Amino acid sequence: MTTLNPGMDAETFEQFIDQLQRYVRERLIPAEREIIEADEIPADIVQEMRDMGLFGLTVPEEFGGSGLSISQYARTVHTLSYAMPAFRSLVSINIGMFCSAIKNGGTDAQKAEWLPRIAAGEITSFGLTEPGAGSDAAGMQTMAVKTDKGWVLNGTKRYITNSPYAKVALIMARTSKDNQPKNAHVSAFIVPMDLPGISVGKSDKKMGQAGSQIADIILEDVLVPDDALLGGELGKGFIFAMKSLDNGRISVGSAATAYARRALDSAVRYATERKAFGEPIANFQLIQQMLAQSEIDIYAAETMMADVTRRADAGENVLRKAAAFKVFASEMCGRVVDNCVQVYGGAGYLAEYDAERFFRDARIYRIYEGTTQILQLQIAKHMLREFHAGA
Ligand SMILES: Cc1cc2nc3c(=O)[nH]c(=O)nc-3n(C[C@H](O)[C@H](O)[C@H](O)COP(=O)(O)OP(=O)(O)OC[C@H]3O[C@@H](n4cnc5c(N)ncnc54)[C@H](O)[C@@H]3O)c2cc1C
Repeated sequence: MTTLNPGMDAETFEQFIDQLQRYVRERLIPAEREIIEADEIPADIVQEMRDMGLFGLTVPEEFGGSGLSISQYARTVHTLSYAMPAFRSLVSINIGMFCSAIKNGGTDAQKAEWLPRIAAGEITSFGLTEPGAGSDAAGMQTMAVKTDKGWVLNGTKRYITNSPYAKVALIMARTSKDNQPKNAHVSAFIVPMDLPGISVGKSDKKMGQAGSQIADIILEDVLVPDDALLGGELGKGFIFAMKSLDNGRISVGSAATAYARRALDSAVRYATERKAFGEPIANFQLIQQMLAQSEIDIYAAETMMADVTRRADAGENVLRKAAAFKVFASEMCGRVVDNCVQVYGGAGYLAEYDAERFFRDARIYRIYEGTTQILQLQIAKHMLREFHAGA
């Protein structure tokens, strides 16, 4: 059972959501075109996001954050993700994996040092994936070797969100080449990005999600002190990472649900403005079918979001439901953005309109934080385990 967290008081939270909703519509969405051009969020917006406390949403209040409950966290991510995905990406590691790992697995000294810093908006990265290890995290090759002076890290982490501007990364590394028992030798290390031996590759060119950057982190004989080991204990890295997964899946599911709503709103607007055969295309029943089916899909995802987060707040183990929500919401978002392109017709294929970038941006939701296939396997594994236990 997780510790129950009541979160921010309801009235203050609703005011915060209202304020964020206005900020998204009046400030972030109008800035999107410029961000796509520059492939970067301008510094003044990053600072405004810090000032609004968006980097510390899940950090406990005593460490300078907002201490949101899981349902409040999901609603905040959902509100923010009506805008282009780069905004969520920028804060996602701070309020997701990094915060969870330190909060749930850090020593008192690590909490005192890092939680206030991430709440204040020092940008973080999380390094699990490697050139030879994605879904198969157990294939990880990055090594941490103990010396008199601390730990020495060597390896390459791939596709790491925020790494071009992160101040600190949580790096998963193996402390023994022995892979048995599976993942038992994977630990997590808190690694400031300005240490000698760390370099960051060129930002990768991506299909979508402009303004959010990913790159390799290369570690060559990087020396970190003993107290960089998360929780001060060997072999806990993988366990901490797994414990934080629900949080990441709820975040991606909520983001995909919100972005589908954005695409549908755009499709409805276009359908009422665009005329064919002398009338708005919204009058045609085949167009209405696409709009209605998208609405049904989004409603189902919104309902799953409310249910899984309510259960998580009540202390229920939501591993299976969080995975189900992420799979459904990300696949559903794919269908909705596809309908959006179709409603736009030829204009849906042109960069001048929004539909084609919604289509490209949404694609990654089905891949990161566990691909659809890996999550389906995980859901089935739990179902079958339960069946056999009950048989
Ligand atoms: C924009 C972006 C941001 C990212 N940010 C981060 C980050 O910040 N930190 C980080 O550590 N990683 C990050 N990643 C990496 C991401 O989590 C991985 O790409 C993802 O986990 C998939 O791993 P892979 O790319 O190695 O694919 P693979 O594991 O090679 O999978 C390829 C295909 O095979 C399927 N597959 C694999 N195994 C099985 C199986 N057993 N059964 C059925 N199908 C299977 C997969 O579903 C997929 O369709 C990011 C990636 C992108 C593109």
